[in-house]
Amino acid sequence: MIIWICTDMEGLAGIDRWEQCYHPDDNAPEYLYGREQLTEEVNAAVAGCFDAGATEVRIIDGHGRNRNRGFLQEKLDPRAKQVWFSSFNPLRMEGLDETVHAVAMIGQHAMAGTLNGFIDHTQVPKEICRFLINGEEHGEMSQFALYAGAYGVPLVYVSGDEALCEEARRLFPHVRCTPTKRGTGWATCELYPPDEVRARIRRDIAEAIRNANRADAWRLPTPIEVSVEWAYSGLADERARFAGVQRVDARTVAWKIHDPRDIYMFPSEAWQPGTAYREG
Ligand SMILES: [Zn+2]
Repeated sequence: MIIWICTDMEGLAGIDRWEQCYHPDDNAPEYLYGREQLTEEVNAAVAGCFDAGATEVRIIDGHGRNRNRGFLQEKLDPRAKQVWFSSFNPLRMEGLDETVHAVAMIGQHAMAGTLNGFIDHTQVPKEICRFLINGEEHGEMSQFALYAGAYGVPLVYVSGDEALCEEARRLFPHVRCTPTKRGTGWATCELYPPDEVRARIRRDIAEAIRNANRADAWRLPTPIEVSVEWAYSGLADERARFAGVQRVDARTVAWKIHDPRDIYMFPSEAWQPGTAYREG
């Protein structure tokens, strides 16, 4: 039984400052502290997966600033198998296919535009205001659920702040959540005791895996419409010039994808949705 886990940092227990996730200096004490929180939390999740009978646990460091070097190797549970992206254009995840039993997210944050979500964002903080799938607002949790769903694999578990847990309850009621803290503003929060949170994560992810049901995989008929409202019109201008991209209004562009795994792709010189938008 293979479990595949995507990690992020903003939603981790023990993280309550922007610098712990984004410090420009690799050796800054705040950032190293952040990486330690990441490693301890992923260890708790990995332990829970094995408690539930997993035979292999794959983990990917999904926090962009870490450049795939976030886990502290000397402290990481050696049973965890680290994976990375198998390609970037289009974005594909190594070892995530129909042989995986279930997927989970650790340290996740709420979607862009969430009140009291700790560093709430979708992909790019301060650039993307709203990300929509078939006209409904979604965030990174939904993107991952849709990607895994393409293989019939369900998202069964997330850890993150209360706002993320609320998002999960609303969009994916079957997903089990462990709250790590309560956001009080854009980059302020009240932490819950990290050791208690990690004990709960271990227990909750194990229960989620035991109850995993492939019928909960998120599948949508294709094509799927993606639309993005950017912070200002110039960012929309940059995307609108590519084939298959529709200009909705000054700040918003939309396109269609024919493969749910392309939910991570944005129109660029390297990737375009093609002309399918006009046909559909
Ligand atoms: Zn992140």
